[in-house]
Amino acid sequence: MPKHEHALSPSEFKPFVLSTKTPMSTHVFLLRFSYPGLDNDSGCKCGEYLSTRAVLNGEEIIRYYSPVSIPDDTGHIDLLVKVDTGKMSNVFAMMRVGDVLEIRGPISGFVCNAETMPKHMSLIAGGTGIAPCLQIIRQIIADKSDTKVTLLYGANDPSELVFRDELDSYENVKTIYTVDYVPNGVEWNGRVGYINKEMIQSHLPSPDDTFVVMCGTWMMMKTLRVTLEELGYADKMFVYG
Ligand SMILES: Cc1cc2nc3c(=O)[nH]c(=O)nc-3n(C[C@H](O)[C@H](O)[C@H](O)COP(=O)(O)OP(=O)(O)OC[C@H]3O[C@@H](n4cnc5c(N)ncnc54)[C@H](O)[C@@H]3O)c2cc1C
Repeated sequence: MPKHEHALSPSEFKPFVLSTKTPMSTHVFLLRFSYPGLDNDSGCKCGEYLSTRAVLNGEEIIRYYSPVSIPDDTGHIDLLVKVDTGKMSNVFAMMRVGDVLEIRGPISGFVCNAETMPKHMSLIAGGTGIAPCLQIIRQIIADKSDTKVTLLYGANDPSELVFRDELDSYENVKTIYTVDYVPNGVEWNGRVGYINKEMIQSHLPSPDDTFVVMCGTWMMMKTLRVTLEELGYADKMFVYG
């Protein structure tokens, strides 16, 4: 018997009420959806993502999202979403507390737990691709695991590097931030430029000593997948999407 009743179903969409909508930057929001029971958990494993369904102007839209809350969190599930010009983005932009989103899951993903967690985890995140990476980090912390983490985290500009205070607070997590550009008047002492081969070689352990999980924009993953393969990580990596 599971400890908690699972709120989500892998086979059918279920409705969940938006309980909080927190702006993390101009275009990034943290959405908390309540489960029917305070004691419910998600039923997902760490690293697994979900499917969401909404109807916009009569059209059904289905998109995938990775929770940032961990499987043991009860009563709610948290999604980190980027709101731009896309269709589900529109739904999220209009969504108010009390509105309902249909969620189904788990779907798939990089499944990890205390037993399977490597000694060193390399995470590469672009934009809201931080979502599964943050969940993995939170799981490592919750498990009091001695796994060390190196996170390469890139975003359009410094304001989109969300959860920096939390990431910087973890002793076993080393984060290297990089941004595409720095707007005029913004103070930034970190790196500028895309995550690239040089950055991977400078900061990540060799393939024998780590496992790489990557999540980001389609273009970033297309480019860096090839780079990681060239550097010998082909059998030691998981790429979302
Ligand atoms: C496994 C997985 C996990 C994911 N996890 C997350 C997550 O945790 N958080 C998250 O934010 N995203 C996540 N995504 C991405 C997410 O599923 C959606 O693809 C994303 O939110 C965009 O959906 P959309 O409907 O808003 O955009 P779509 O309507 O699908 O549009 C796609 C892109 O085209 C652009 N576009 C659309 N219309 C126009 C237009 N008229 N002019 C110019 N550009 C346009 C949009 O800006 C958008 O970038 C994940 C994807 C996968 C595969």
